Amino acid sequence: MKEISCKLLVIGAGPGGYVCAIRAGQLGVDTVIVEAGKPGGTCLNVGCIPSKALIHAAEAFEKVAHMAGGKSPLGISVGAPKLDLTRTVAWKDGIVSRLNSGVAGLLKKAKVKTVHGWATFRDGKTVEVETETGTQVIRAEAVVIATGSAPVELPFLPFGGPVISSTEALALGEVPKKLAVVGGGYIGLELGIAFAKMGAEVTVVEALPRVLAQYDAELTRPVVKRLAELGIEVMTGAKAKGLSTKGDALLVETSDGKNAKIGADKILVTVGRKPVTEGWGLEQIDLDMSGKFIRIDDQCRSSMRGIFAIGDVTGEPMLAHRAMAQGEMVAEIVAGHKRSWDKRAIPAICFTDPELLTAGLSPEEAKAVGGEIKIGLFPFAANGRAMTKLGEDGFVRVVARADNHLVLGIQAVGQGVSELSAAFGLALEMGARLEDIAGTIHAHPTQGEGFQEAALKALGHALHI
Ligand code: FAD
Repeated sequence: MKEISCKLLVIGAGPGGYVCAIRAGQLGVDTVIVEAGKPGGTCLNVGCIPSKALIHAAEAFEKVAHMAGGKSPLGISVGAPKLDLTRTVAWKDGIVSRLNSGVAGLLKKAKVKTVHGWATFRDGKTVEVETETGTQVIRAEAVVIATGSAPVELPFLPFGGPVISSTEALALGEVPKKLAVVGGGYIGLELGIAFAKMGAEVTVVEALPRVLAQYDAELTRPVVKRLAELGIEVMTGAKAKGLSTKGDALLVETSDGKNAKIGADKILVTVGRKPVTEGWGLEQIDLDMSGKFIRIDDQCRSSMRGIFAIGDVTGEPMLAHRAMAQGEMVAEIVAGHKRSWDKRAIPAICFTDPELLTAGLSPEEAKAVGGEIKIGLFPFAANGRAMTKLGEDGFVRVVARADNHLVLGIQAVGQGVSELSAAFGLALEMGARLEDIAGTIHAHPTQGEGFQEAALKALGHALHI
């Protein structure tokens, strides 16, 4: 049995773990990272990056198909497009593999030692890793748990055969003719929309009264409208019950209590993700939990001295950039810097069509905090750039305190609004007031002007509406 010692041991090389290890290495901390799979974790291998590749390919295909149908107002017509999903998936795999090597290279450059295998705690300072060449024991002064999350499986729809998770959906050999999506959250809708654009007949089954239920109805309306345009059937208030005996249909109880059968050659279950808290010896270290997640404080410290936890294993929002920010902070704390965590400005994006973006507080949340608020909403229908992109559906909305105009939250829905997330995050992080946004010269013609106009609108003097 081989043994090594280090100052910092990171378990899991997802966006949380690998960023933590790189930053620690940059600061001269003697760091080891353990990963059972490929560098980059869920996000890079079966999450953010592959899903966005597929979404991009689907968008391109749908645009060309629209032109081929002679419906494009741009005056472009082409022949009917063909899609070879195996080539699309190979292209996506190529991007993932380049980024895998990139992460491995960055770890090496930061002088981080990578151990490949599954880690299990022996005690709070010692971990055993089953590697290809035998058991490796690693002793560390500080340990970061960054074990991430996995898809939730429904007991009456176990994964296997036609029932798939997002992981399998990203690697299909052909577009399903009929796809049933169980769960109308962001992952289900992103993938459902992509497959609908690639030609699948898609039905989304959602138990709650609305899809994307964590966002307000005003914000999700353009997405719901687009789902209908794409021919996606959305069954809300409906419960998936199981697979038909022949395995060719999803059994559903509709909102009015009737039984329905939705013919499907694939059933994609996207009902959430669960933290990976089993199989690595949580019982050996007996950490305090917060529900199913590891409880952490505002420095990502767990209840046991010297053990930190970051990313999806610590709770919502389960997003890559949150995990990365936590990872960077923890590395700096281990290196002796003073840091703490402020989650005020974590943007969240649904890469649906159109895209949906939020940062900070929604109008309802801002009202709940107390005090009067001002809201400014600017529709993309009044934005020249959006018109030139056939993207008039949607808006930017700014929420601010009425007394001192401090911006509390910003939301947008529309084509390509994900790229506004940096501006929204910066405004919140810098404590911008409505006047700061209104007084910033925004380049013309851009959708970003909608941000400035929404701030102007909240101040009562929008220029273009
Ligand atoms: P993970 O990325 O889950 O990484 C954990 C790593 O730890 C894994 O590689 C695992 O193999 C390893 N591991 C676990 N236990 C052990 C052990 N005992 N020993 C060794 N290794 C271990 N987020 C966004 O911000 N934007 C998006 O657009 C987005 N899209 C998504 C799309 C899909 C389809 C999915 C599924 C997720 C998406 N997410 C997105 C969420 C994002 O992927 C996660 O929030 C992020 O990956 C969490 O990072 P993490 O470091 O906490 O864990």
